[in-house]
Amino acid sequence: MIKKISLSISLALIASAANAKQPEFAADHCKATQINAQHYQNFPSALEEANLRHSKIKIVKESRIQSKLNGKSSESNSDYVMGISATPSYIIPVVFHVYGTVHNGRTVNDAVIIDALHRTNEDFQGQSADFSDIDPEFENLKDSLNIEFRLASIDPSGAPTSGIVYHPVSSGAGNYSSSDVKNDHWDNYKYMNVYIQNDLYADGVTNNSGVAWYPDTGMSDDGLARVAYNGAYLGSNTDENFRSVLTHEFGHFLDLIHTFEGGCKRGAAKRCTSTGDKNCDTPQQNSWQMNPGDGGVLNCMGETINWQNFMAYSDQYANYTQDQVTRMINGLNSSARSTLWSASNLVATGSE
Ligand SMILES: [Zn+2]
Repeated sequence: MIKKISLSISLALIASAANAKQPEFAADHCKATQINAQHYQNFPSALEEANLRHSKIKIVKESRIQSKLNGKSSESNSDYVMGISATPSYIIPVVFHVYGTVHNGRTVNDAVIIDALHRTNEDFQGQSADFSDIDPEFENLKDSLNIEFRLASIDPSGAPTSGIVYHPVSSGAGNYSSSDVKNDHWDNYKYMNVYIQNDLYADGVTNNSGVAWYPDTGMSDDGLARVAYNGAYLGSNTDENFRSVLTHEFGHFLDLIHTFEGGCKRGAAKRCTSTGDKNCDTPQQNSWQMNPGDGGVLNCMGETINWQNFMAYSDQYANYTQDQVTRMINGLNSSARSTLWSASNLVATGSE
């Protein structure tokens, strides 16, 4: 009898441990690679726009290097309030559209969203606990972006808003032409639109974590620019690591590619601006299944991978690299994103 009780307690503990890990291993990963490739296939002009945008990255990079040499970096900051910068270089007005308030048994409300957004701001600004616990090889490569995603306080009609809009349960916000996205969007040139649904692709699957498209004026013109995200993986609705998938999706919104895109190819390092994640300081990654627990962190070139990178699928999300931050700054200055953080727009959206 004692043995049986002991066994059942053990099984309960195992089940409990499995549940604790469940969000990470049960969730289907972000489909940004596929959906953006599909977008460029459907709209060649979008690919041309992206290529033109990327041709300017080297100018941003040179400018950042020069600013740091001159000690005039506008990105540096030492004044923090509540864990994030008091003087962000970029403020992005955000609206959350929430469809149903219970996602896989987890509640989505204002407090959960405010906390999730705050912690994503900490991630971007290098203020999370993990940022100071980086694999030593990446200590000098890690970087942060002095940006704040801030809930809008004035809506498109000029009325006060919390920046969070609740709708009846719906699904499919991860599908390109989602009617919810089209019907409910706020001007994409003034607000970053985040859609919280449980079933992102309207296929009955409720464990897709999130998805986002890179900057594209065609999508912004049509009200389709977005991050779509599962409320079950928002902030305190999941574990401390997995909630950074929201940070990952925001990275896509600012033009970042997965670190494992295209896998690892010998010789590709010479073409690092045109292959993989197109950032030369991010080592190629054989596959998304590379974490220390997966049997090693060396890529096909024998290099240590940045397994803690926000744009990987990591068990310990911690950092962006310098080239990734440069790429995001370039994305912020693209015509699909630059109006968001303009001084006049921050006034118009009550985000200043
Ligand atoms: Zn992704």
